Amino acid sequence: MQLSDIEHNIRVIRERIEQACKRSGRNPEEVKLMLVTKTVPVERIQMALDAGENLIGENKVQEGLQKREPLTSANPSLDFHFIGHLQTNKVKDVLKFATCIQSVDRMKLATALHERLQKEGRTMDVLIQVNTSYEESKFGAAPEDALALIQEVAKLDTLRIKGLMTIGLFTDDQEKVRKCFKLLQNIRREAQELALPNVNMEVMSMGMSGDFETAIEEGSTLVRVGSAIFGKRIYPDSHYWNESVKSE
Ligand SMILES: *Cc1c(COP(=O)(O)O)cnc(C)c1O
Repeated sequence: MQLSDIEHNIRVIRERIEQACKRSGRNPEEVKLMLVTKTVPVERIQMALDAGENLIGENKVQEGLQKREPLTSANPSLDFHFIGHLQTNKVKDVLKFATCIQSVDRMKLATALHERLQKEGRTMDVLIQVNTSYEESKFGAAPEDALALIQEVAKLDTLRIKGLMTIGLFTDDQEKVRKCFKLLQNIRREAQELALPNVNMEVMSMGMSGDFETAIEEGSTLVRVGSAIFGKRIYPDSHYWNESVKSE
């Protein structure tokens, strides 16, 4: 049987996930694989879905909107998360395709989501994004503000907090990245101790192509892998993370 490059890459990643779980005494079923599909055309995403995958993430609202129709009509139970910086004026559009918003990082955004969801009479799963690397180019609540944000967002009954998300420091030094993931775990523990109603800290979304094994060792339950499956993107990541910094 001839495997496509994508199927092959997914197998390799799944094998590496399994090995990282083994090393850290974890059950591989605790770790979900998200395919990060930004800049990847629908036909190639469909190849991955045909290989048995069901969880994807996009980080631009416009791109998610464009891909929604072809992807969800062919894959009705697709789990489609939004993982990028979200401006409040895009809230209505993101709710047209997202099944979970992983990038809630400020109260203004949470409130805008809540108001729109109330209008639509529904709820949405969300993660609180924390900037554990303290890099200015990245979004997310400052670690010292995260608990207060969680407590405030918990009061909005249309938003179901399912856990936390972070982007680790960009470096080849895995010990430096590990500190980011440990910090996220500390915040999770503190949030769990508060035992807030409407807050569940099950999902730890951390780890990307370059650091997902370290993230698994530190308790990740959802790794977001793009380039290691679909190949290098044409645009640098800063193109995705820095846009619209000025606007909000
Ligand atoms: C692009 C992106 C990823 C995946 O990055 P790779 O290094 O290609 O695996 C993960 N998370 C977020 C938020 C992203 O924007």
